[in-house]
Amino acid sequence: MTEHTCEVVGCGRPVEDAQVCVTCRRQLDVVLGEVPSLVGELVAAEARRTRRLATVRALGFVDVPLPVNLAAAAAHRRLTEALADAQRVRPGAILSEARAAALAGILRPYSESLRHTETAGQLIGEVLAAAAHAWAVVDLPQHRSTFPVGPCPQVENEQHCDGEVRAYIPRDEATSPSLVCAACGAVWFSWQWVRAGQRIRQREAQLTAAKHRKGSLVPLTGTEGA
Ligand SMILES: [Zn+2]
Ligand SMILES: [Zn+2]
Repeated sequence: MTEHTCEVVGCGRPVEDAQVCVTCRRQLDVVLGEVPSLVGELVAAEARRTRRLATVRALGFVDVPLPVNLAAAAAHRRLTEALADAQRVRPGAILSEARAAALAGILRPYSESLRHTETAGQLIGEVLAAAAHAWAVVDLPQHRSTFPVGPCPQVENEQHCDGEVRAYIPRDEATSPSLVCAACGAVWFSWQWVRAGQRIRQREAQLTAAKHRKGSLVPLTGTEGA
């Protein structure tokens, strides 16, 4: 009977022959196999962030706090460092500036021997944690390809559209971003954004004012045209 448990934080499974259990090693294998696509997502998230900043500026929302979140870059660094540390236990280890995907490929055939090294719990644990963190960052709202901009300013038959305008930032850099209202179908392309941004903010101000004057009607100022 053994008292020894897996040293990966949060695992706690009994293990007799190594520092880290086979289940955690299998999880490591899966994580390593996913590193290339995870890196792709992180890079895309960074590129989208840059385009989002450009979008917010083009709309003239200078007062809006810009999403200066650098989480994707930080998560990418952490993942690369965790992989670099883990592969150093391998005989004849390497290459300080290797990229995450290359490191994952190097490490993968050694996951079984890594499990038996003295610091396996810490090393494997950090790779698993860094990858989980990076996947979570990729899914943060500020890295998604669409975000709300404000209330739709369109007026039809003297009625204000009650839809919400959203910005769509395509992954593909060759496709230009657009603003779309799903309720009335209005679309604005980047060259129309300064004007659209002004109208959206006017509409926002109207709605805010109307909310403060409880019960009164929202005034129509739809004379500016589309
Ligand atoms: Zn384990
Ligand atoms: Zn609309």
